[in-house]
Amino acid sequence: MRASRRSPGGARDWPIRGLPGPLLVLLLVVETAAVTLVAVGLVLLPATRATGTAALGAAGLVALGVLHTELATGIERVRRRVAHSSYFDLSSVWTFAAALLLPGPLAGLVVAGIYVHLWWRVWRPAGAALYRHVYTTATVVLAATAAAALLPAGRIAAVPGGGAVGTLAGIAVLLAAMAGYVLVNQVLVALALALGAGRRFALREVLGDLDDHVLEGATLCLAVLAALAATREPLLVLLVLPPLLVLHRAVLIRQLEERANTDAKTGLLTAAAWRGRAHRATVRARRQRGSVGVLILDLDHFKAVNDGYGHLAGDEVLAAVSGSLLAEVRDGDAVGRFGGEEFVVLLAGLPRGLEGRAQAHAAAERIRRRVRALAVHPDPAGAGPSTTIGDLSISVGAALQGLDGETLDDLMQVADYALYEAKRAGRNRVRLGGDAGTLDGDRSQAD
Ligand code: GH3
Ligand code: MG
Ligand code: MG
Repeated sequence: MRASRRSPGGARDWPIRGLPGPLLVLLLVVETAAVTLVAVGLVLLPATRATGTAALGAAGLVALGVLHTELATGIERVRRRVAHSSYFDLSSVWTFAAALLLPGPLAGLVVAGIYVHLWWRVWRPAGAALYRHVYTTATVVLAATAAAALLPAGRIAAVPGGGAVGTLAGIAVLLAAMAGYVLVNQVLVALALALGAGRRFALREVLGDLDDHVLEGATLCLAVLAALAATREPLLVLLVLPPLLVLHRAVLIRQLEERANTDAKTGLLTAAAWRGRAHRATVRARRQRGSVGVLILDLDHFKAVNDGYGHLAGDEVLAAVSGSLLAEVRDGDAVGRFGGEEFVVLLAGLPRGLEGRAQAHAAAERIRRRVRALAVHPDPAGAGPSTTIGDLSISVGAALQGLDGETLDDLMQVADYALYEAKRAGRNRVRLGGDAGTLDGDRSQAD
């Protein structure tokens, strides 16, 4: 529920320079393994008529992949204009179909062919780093090889009418091949991300976004249909293209939705999106006899920052404060920009009563202290190269479900009043709704 920040779900997020040693080793091992598997496999392929047919099939799949990319770049261009995000790759439809239809090494060649074209048409013009694309290509080669190994080559083709996948056992093998394909890819990308960032990733981060998996699942289903069509009426494979292009549009809609819910300046939820999530969390907590906390936060004397350093530097302070907020809340919490220099936080999963209030207070205090310690170095273009903006502070009003009201509106009202009290009492402090005086942190505690 946290404000949407793209999780490290793709190769795009890796740092470009100064790759750590372990990551370099991983890149080298994975790429060498992919090249060796394909090269040795090709040499070992028997020179039969079946191999010749398979090679022809491989060429056909590369051609389809190229056609797909060419058609999709039109939609993608529209998407880049409105959503400012990069290409969403659905080429698994061809690479997984290759894994289902062809011997492993030929499937590897299909991947390489499609990815060289993707690099040339999509990633290079977008300024992507070549080493990432090469690594991604290698992971897909290995994924396709693993899937091909699980589902012996040509199995779909070998049985008349594609009957091999029509039985329960056939479907089980097919699902295993899908799982193998996804798993190899996911694990290798996650490994690279972890080594690149030098930290362990939480399972949730590694597993990625559910929507992405649904999309990947849909692509793999299309791949199965494409493979079946290829065994009966190769020309019918072209019928896969229209639904595939519709899938590209589905990504566009999802990203527009995400963008509409995100405040552009801070990356936090917009006020409306926050309200929707906070409302749902409040209703849920009440039903489950739990509680939520609501914080309303307002930067102190922020006008002085704008006056002293300019509005661009002010914007950077807003972004830095947003980062502090995100850093101090838990995964299920929601952080939004209420407007101007005001923020709202929903703290989920709190216990009812005084214990919940103490936890909400602790979270608010953590945020207050972190903002107090912030040192923002605005972009030289905004305020000169060596400027540091510090001495920031934030006032916080808090309310707890159960003690201060039950509905979101109740809690907002109490938290807003508490914020006003915090300002009146001298700023840089946390005020709790209801019996505000008892747990209040004053300025002497604060600094
Ligand atoms: P107080 O301690 O009473 O909250 O004082 P303040 O100066 O923070 O409050 P005031 O409401 O007087 O000023 C808020 C300022 O926030 C004024 C406005 O220009 C600035 N502001 C609002 N939105 C943005 C923004 O998106 N970027 C920048 N740079 N400044 C903004
Ligand atoms: Mg204000
Ligand atoms: Mg203010």
